[in-house]
Amino acid sequence: MRVLITGGAGFIGSHLAEKCIKLGEKVFVIDDLSTGDYKNIENLTPNQNFNFVLENILNEAVLDRLVSECDIVFHLAAAVGVTLVMKDPVRTIETNVEGTGLVLKIANRHSKKVIIVSTSEIYGKGMNESFSEEDDRLLGPITRSRWSYACSKSIDEFLALAYYKQNNLPVVICRLFNTIGPRQTGYYGMVVPKFIDQALLGKPLTVFGTGAQTRCFCCVLDVLEAFLLLAKPEAGNGEVFNIGSIEEISIEKLAKKVVEITGSKSEIRYLPYEAAYGEGFEDMQRRKPNINKIQQRFGWQPKYSLAETLKLIINERNPIG
Ligand code: UDP
Repeated sequence: MRVLITGGAGFIGSHLAEKCIKLGEKVFVIDDLSTGDYKNIENLTPNQNFNFVLENILNEAVLDRLVSECDIVFHLAAAVGVTLVMKDPVRTIETNVEGTGLVLKIANRHSKKVIIVSTSEIYGKGMNESFSEEDDRLLGPITRSRWSYACSKSIDEFLALAYYKQNNLPVVICRLFNTIGPRQTGYYGMVVPKFIDQALLGKPLTVFGTGAQTRCFCCVLDVLEAFLLLAKPEAGNGEVFNIGSIEEISIEKLAKKVVEITGSKSEIRYLPYEAAYGEGFEDMQRRKPNINKIQQRFGWQPKYSLAETLKLIINERNPIG
């Protein structure tokens, strides 16, 4: 199979590229390295089945050629991370809406299956015990930049399902809940790599707000297994699937766990949201997936515990420790 991965030099995309190469697939990656990193794919470049194209996905001619040559598209190129969204909302909206629009238009031209990688962020700030694919969503006001990410990704999802309904284009939407793992950078604000780097450097771990807010962190290696199940030609077309862990932890407990596992002497420092993200930030207090759908249909469930995943990340950063 020939696989195209947009954003394949990013954290999740590069793991997917590596996995597909291991499975003997021919892999094409298109990435403009805006948030991705060449180092993530460097070890794959000697492989004759691996092809890297340094380009923005808005280059239609290049994207058209790549899509025409592949059997399936994993669309991961996107502006991600709350910090980036708050700092550069124009880029977030344009990359997500225009980029996905073009990917779908071209995939439709060549009738190629597309896996749209979306986000639990689209569920917004509702206080549901867990979120199911068909749940209502509660987003904050348009004046708060954070929600531009959820809205841009929602449009991506609507458009993908519209192509399925109108043109029978095989698309699957994967809503990821806080994916973590080796290679993820803390630079764009993601809490787990930030805490681990802070702990390993002996710096204070910065808990925003009270730390009572909870998340469920899923190992990227588990996410890849879900992608591969949904990539099969007949699997999940025209449907949405939550992909995440159901092991819930507060951010305060996460900080304590990271300190404990790394054996760090770092203190935990509590910061108001305004100090972290600027005025007008809204956080969600809880975000847990209901994964019954993918579990019942495809038998998928996460295999890695949070502690195991944290250890994988710590070992990658600190191989001797
Ligand atoms: N967070 C934190 N300290 C940090 C970075 C993030 O306390 O240095 C908090 C953040 O406010 C949120 C949670 O950790 O409540 C998860 O943040 P992340 O940006 O990783 O993901 P998301 O908010 O998209 O779930």
